[in-house]
Order: sequence, then structure tokens, then C-alpha cells
Amino acid sequence: MFNALVVTKDEDSGKTAAAVTELSLDQLPDAEVTVAVDYSTVNYKDGLCIGPGGGLVRKYPHVPGIDFAGTVEASSDDRYQPGDKVVLTGWRVGEAHWGGYAQKASVRADWLVPLPEGVDTRQAMAVGTAGFTAMLSVMALEDHGLTPGHGPVLVTGAAGGVGSVATAILSNLGYEVAAVTGRPETSGYLTSLGATQIVPREELNETVKRPLESENWAGCIDAVGGAMLARVLGQMKYGASVAAVGLAGGAGLPATVIPFLLRGVNLLGIDSVMQPYDNRLRAWQRVATDLPMDKLEAMVKPATLSDLPQLGADILKGQVKGRVVVDVNA
Ligand code: NDP
Repeated sequence: MFNALVVTKDEDSGKTAAAVTELSLDQLPDAEVTVAVDYSTVNYKDGLCIGPGGGLVRKYPHVPGIDFAGTVEASSDDRYQPGDKVVLTGWRVGEAHWGGYAQKASVRADWLVPLPEGVDTRQAMAVGTAGFTAMLSVMALEDHGLTPGHGPVLVTGAAGGVGSVATAILSNLGYEVAAVTGRPETSGYLTSLGATQIVPREELNETVKRPLESENWAGCIDAVGGAMLARVLGQMKYGASVAAVGLAGGAGLPATVIPFLLRGVNLLGIDSVMQPYDNRLRAWQRVATDLPMDKLEAMVKPATLSDLPQLGADILKGQVKGRVVVDVNA
């Protein structure tokens, strides 16, 4: 028997409820690798899946948790042996498949990545999907020519998960980081992660008035979308790129094409869910070398399975700072 956060749905009222529940191994889905989960974390999507589902959960009862790190217990696939340390993000685990809010998980071998040297399972979940996606964004900006010394890189939603890790990585790589936040009380935290400038959210949250403004930013990692992303496009330096990661502020894009046509600005889409294996490996290896683990530790808030219903509601309201690490065995 093992513990899991199980979400059930009342078919009559349509209401969902989440509670820590004992499950047996034979209730796990049938897949190639069984993992003893050490840690999971809390992402925006987890908030949806712990709560009413947001259209992501396919069937109930459901075990959420879109990412986890742990140790292989059993494997029918040659690539993994008992004792291997692994991490999983994406592939709709925790949405369409049972996820990491459990002491055991059964998943496809193709979905796993071996943990790189120097990153333990707790650190892997302090990074989690948010940090992995921040790393993918940095890699995409670099692949499109970003190098230090050409001005500040803007990070929006900076005090959130993606934003916090992006700030720490960029700063460690020698970039000036301008951190956009709607929570002025987090400015000390953001400066400690390496932000060199704090930009109040309201300065960028207004819809585009002029399609081109001063060329301020050498690059941007955007977790917010909506009016802010539209506004930022018109403030990018000539030829600079924006990595579009999230929609914390909205899915619309009330922009003009002028920044693309007159300034050669690039809008780069970042998807962590279906990311090919080789790039996942590359991103986790870059996490090991480019993310200072002391700064990562400063972002961490520890939690247990029973804290998850509250944390899920908090992240949907934009009230979680940094990274939550869930010890599923605590
Ligand atoms: P968090 O909730 O931790 O961070 C989001 C941050 O955005 C908040 O902390 C807040 O930062 C800011 N924010 C929230 N609401 C608004 C608003 N209305 N207007 C402007 N800013 C706002 O989430 P994550 O960092 O985990 O994820 C960020 C986004 O990225 C989400 O939309 C998520 O779905 C998406 N995502 C996408 C992935 C992909 O593969 N493309 C993978 C992972 C996440 P502050 O308080 O500093 O202003």
C-alpha cells in the first residue's frame, strides 16, 4: 500500500474533491517503469488538476502531479534498472495519466530522463517543470543569438516558478536581468536571485498604445502573455527574441506585427510537454551546470501531500512565490 493525493468527482453535482488516500500497487496504471517517488512540486496546471480539472483531467479517480523525481523500483525496459535516479516532466502525466502526487508511479520509459550528475531528486523538483521550462527558454534565446553584454533581459512573472529560475540562471550566465513583478514585496527576493532591476507590473500591463517604443530589452522570457507580452514586443531591441512560455496574465495577444517587420523581433514558442528527448537531456545537463544550487534552495518552500489542496488553490491565484517542493513520503 502507498499514499497518494486522489481527486474524485461526484457525478451528480460534478464537484471534485482531493484527499490523501491509500492505494495498492495493483491500482497503478500498467506501464514499463515503476518509480518510488521522492519529490513532486506545484505548477499552475497542478492547481487546475487538484481542483476542478480545467479540462485537463481525462477520468476520475485521478492522481495529479505533472512532474516528479525518484528512484526506479522495477523496469521492463532495458534503458532503466532498479536504483536509477530519474525525473519526469510533461507528456500529460498528472493530467491524462496518473502523476507524481503519490509514493509510487507507473510510467512509460520514453517519458523519463536520467538525473544528471550533481542534481539530486529534491533539487530536480525544486527545478521542476517550471525551472526546466525556464532552462528551455534560455537555450532558445541563446540559439537565436542572445549573448551577455547587450543590455537587460526582461523576465515577466518573475516571482513565480518559471520567472524565479529564469532570473537565477540568466544572472549566473552573466546577463543583466530586469524582473517584472506585481508583488513589490518580492523585490528583495528577486535581487537575491540576481535581478539587477525591478520593473513594476503596472508599467507593462497596459495595452499597446504605440506599436514601437524605446528599444529596452536584449531578450525576454515571458510567463505572463496577454497585454504584457504585446507591450514588450514593441520594446525589444533590434533583432532580439522573446520566449513565450506562459499565460498567467491571459491567452490573448493584442499586438501589432510592426515589431516583427521593422525591428526583426522574434517570438519563440516554448513547449515543455512534448519536448524531444535529446533536448530534455541537454536542458537537464544545463540545469546542473548553469543554475546555482544555493539560489535554487532560496526559492524552495517545503510541503507534504496533505498541503496540496490549499497550494493548488494558491497557485491559481498567483500567490505562490518561487518553488514548492512536495516530499511525498513526509
Ligand atoms: P506561477 O504562478 O508560479 O507564476 C506566474 C507569475 O506570473 C506569478 O507569480 C506572478 O508573478 C505573475 N502573474 C500572475 N498573474 C498575473 C497577471 N494577471 N498579470 C501579470 N502577471 C501575473 O506559475 P509558473 O511560473 O509555474 O508558470 C507560469 C506560466 O507558465 C503559467 O501560465 C504556466 O501555465 C506556464 N507554463 C508553461 C509551460 C510550457 O511548457 N510552455 C511549462 C510551465 C509553465 P509576480 O507576482 O512576480 O508578478
